[in-house]
Amino acid sequence: MTPTPISSIVLEGREFFVKRDDLVDKYLTGNKFRKLHPLLVTPNKAFDKIISYGGTQSNAMLSISAMCKQKGWEYIYYTKEISKTQEEKNIGNLYLAKMLGMNHIQIPHTKYRTVINELQFNLDEKTFLIDQGGAIVDAKEGLDILAEEIREQRPNVKALATPSGTGTTALFLALSLPEYIVYTTPCVGDVNYLKKQMSALANLPDNLVILKPKKKYHFAKPYPNFLDIYKKTLSSGIEFDLIYSTGMWECLLEQTNEKILYIHSGGVSGNESMLERYKNKRLLV
Ligand SMILES: *Cc1c(COP(=O)(O)O)cnc(C)c1O
Repeated sequence: MTPTPISSIVLEGREFFVKRDDLVDKYLTGNKFRKLHPLLVTPNKAFDKIISYGGTQSNAMLSISAMCKQKGWEYIYYTKEISKTQEEKNIGNLYLAKMLGMNHIQIPHTKYRTVINELQFNLDEKTFLIDQGGAIVDAKEGLDILAEEIREQRPNVKALATPSGTGTTALFLALSLPEYIVYTTPCVGDVNYLKKQMSALANLPDNLVILKPKKKYHFAKPYPNFLDIYKKTLSSGIEFDLIYSTGMWECLLEQTNEKILYIHSGGVSGNESMLERYKNKRLLV
């Protein structure tokens, strides 16, 4: 694959570079594309089915669906039970993933953990199980390719930035690119929770800098200041996702002042349904 390009934007009078991993594909984008790399290069005939589970608006869910369509693999995705209105929505990641062929199976809340825990014991050799959020053991392979692209593109910066869910992306980038500072911020849980998640994967290197969010945000909830940041970035010429990027941009604009290469992590396809939630809360007209 040819390396994704690097664009430049101006936010609050500051220039930032953006690594355009959002341009890889409409649905298979950003760090999910990088993490799924080992499966993407697996011969189609190695598997006939992929199983995964998690939230109904997950970017990983949608990226896996796009991958399965491309590879000709059946895709089964388990979630907790959802309402009829949610199920019948014709916008958002769940809708898009189903359009791409995903088979959605709902499990009653009380049985969810048990069913998920048992998935691993009922696999045949043609079925591959992907843990929540696209967490696959060899995710580092794809992130190493991203690191190599950045190294070869030689952007004129000393720092990179990417928001964290599990922290896999930020941690592996920091490990692969010790010559850069890698800024991140937790979008799920707080700084300590993120450090704990990351520490389970590897020791935290010194060049990884975790910025503390200005206030306690709940994951994937609408916040007026996030909407402002979203609009600001959009008018700079690039659309970013409303869930992860907003917290990261807020930290970068308030807590840093050097030139930074922002790694676009995709996820823009979920914005339509997030914007609808902003409208329902009357935060957007
Ligand atoms: C999944 C995702 C993240 C978080 O990635 P981790 O590797 O889990 O930290 C960040 N941004 C977007 C847009 C995502 O879809």
